[in-house]
Amino acid sequence: MSEILRVEGLSMRFTGGAGLFGRRNRATVHAVDDVDLVVRRGETLGLVGESGCGKTTLGRCILRAHKPSAGRMIYDSAAGPVDLAALSRAELRPLRTEIRTVFQDPNSSLNPRMTVRQIVAEPLVVNRLASGSELTDRVAETLRRCGLRPELMRRYPHAFSGGERQRIGIARALVTEPQLVVADEAVSALDVSVRSQILNLLEDLQDELGLTYVFISHDLSVIQHLCDRVAVMYLGRIVEEAETEDLFEQPRHPYTEALLRSVPRPDPRLRRRDDVLPAGEVPSPSEDFTGCRFQPRCPYAQPICAAEEPESIPRCHFTDELSLAGVYTDLRQTS
Ligand code: SF4
Repeated sequence: MSEILRVEGLSMRFTGGAGLFGRRNRATVHAVDDVDLVVRRGETLGLVGESGCGKTTLGRCILRAHKPSAGRMIYDSAAGPVDLAALSRAELRPLRTEIRTVFQDPNSSLNPRMTVRQIVAEPLVVNRLASGSELTDRVAETLRRCGLRPELMRRYPHAFSGGERQRIGIARALVTEPQLVVADEAVSALDVSVRSQILNLLEDLQDELGLTYVFISHDLSVIQHLCDRVAVMYLGRIVEEAETEDLFEQPRHPYTEALLRSVPRPDPRLRRRDDVLPAGEVPSPSEDFTGCRFQPRCPYAQPICAAEEPESIPRCHFTDELSLAGVYTDLRQTS
């Protein structure tokens, strides 16, 4: 499988603004810190971690909603490889049709004053890709692909259910025939009953259109449902990366093990007394770290963990010695 995106040494730092009593808060937050990542064409790569781990910021860097502070993002565009991190706004414009996003909340991401036709057509209009009857035909075709009746395109979003609104959001993302779709918590706001329908739709569309997804979620059952590979993030760093099945059955980083333990099990017999994320202080992403970032919470920490940060992935000094527990049950029944 060829690479569609190669991220190298990517960092995104934010410097604080005004704080309490108007004092300036100069702390720099390392939201994404020296991340390397490869996305293969046609796969679904999951980015998972607790809130604040940097996964959303990383997704927004790939979309170039943020300009990274450092690093490269080599994207294999239709016109050849480009470094997304280095491009100007004008240079990025043609790529906005190739790299698209699906938003989390279909209720707030769809303009209530626009019809479905206007919402889905907008990226084609803005990028001057179609007009007139061709525009209407492309909107109709995309809606049909997303399981919506084209004859309803003159209606407004409020006339649709939550699941249908997310289908409209997906149609808006796909109408430009993108290569790469970054979906951030795309099913988190949906009822459980609708969630698996949308996940199945995303899978079908991927098969049909050869799409590549970067799927960002805190929900491991959703990740297990959809993803081929998973990268686990903790405090701005990727700590483990593996094929989905391997990661779930045999995690190699204590943080991954802790995440897997925290997934609610539908069967009470499978619940354990330690099914919660470990307590302990989570270092601030504005701190300078020495040692492993998970060390304050890690049940396996040794003195070296406070002194030296593991350099390679999985980022754990004891990955070969620890026998970490995975999950052999199918979590997808909870998605
Ligand atoms: Fe835990 Fe040490 Fe491994 Fe960090 S390096 S995850 S503290 S055992």
